[in-house]
Amino acid sequence: MTTRTPLIAGNWKMNLDHNEAIHLVQKLAWTLKDGKFDYATTEVVVLPSFTSIRSVQTLVDADKLELGYGAQDISQHASGAYTGEVSATQLAKLGVTYVTVGHSERREYHHETDAIVAAKAVAAFGAGIVPIVCVGEGLDVRKAGEQVPYTLTQLEGSLAGITAEQAATVVIAYEPVWAIGTGEVATPEDAQEVCGAIRGKLAELYGQQVADAVRVLYGGSVKSGNVASIMAKPDVDGALVGGASLDAEEFAKIARFQ
Ligand code: PEP
Repeated sequence: MTTRTPLIAGNWKMNLDHNEAIHLVQKLAWTLKDGKFDYATTEVVVLPSFTSIRSVQTLVDADKLELGYGAQDISQHASGAYTGEVSATQLAKLGVTYVTVGHSERREYHHETDAIVAAKAVAAFGAGIVPIVCVGEGLDVRKAGEQVPYTLTQLEGSLAGITAEQAATVVIAYEPVWAIGTGEVATPEDAQEVCGAIRGKLAELYGQQVADAVRVLYGGSVKSGNVASIMAKPDVDGALVGGASLDAEEFAKIARFQ
């Protein structure tokens, strides 16, 4: 049985300027340090806007912080005439180690298909960045009881072109769209049902050893008050946290699963 290091990732979305980002990272690092947080047992990562990544990098390097940082999106293209996009190589140069791809807000507002999400994941791996591939159903699908087949189809499409070697290090975030930013959290059993099915699908696609190594996160209104019960489920290996990651003390509590 593989041991998977839990991952708590804070998706700041389109919030905070670079000064505010520095302030939040400092406060988070101090709060975790004061509480003698053990980074060896849980990996903690923040995902600022592109405009703050360089500042976060400078702070993390200068203070030798054990916090990781990443990006919220990445271009599927390597370089060239793609105005407004940011490439995998550009992000890797900033020390970025993770990037979310296929967040439901990108799928909905930017019409990102599974094929685009997969191309972004491939681009990330090409530059040594681990993609956090987001999948999850909307309310209509949940009401129809179709959350498992829907999410697994999305998963398979979003991993097209990913090799078994890459898949062993990918992170999957199950984020039911109806639970994102709504305060409506999935029950631990809801989270386990789909996260377990995701691991089963990974085993089918890449073999049991890979499936056992992959971290599957839950995301959707995670707070300090509900994280422990969700993390107690066997196939939940961490959380992708939106709103609550903007508060250093609350996010530090989440990182301790309390
Ligand atoms: C998210 O944006 O990925 C998310 C889970 O948001 P929230 O925690 O605010 O629901």
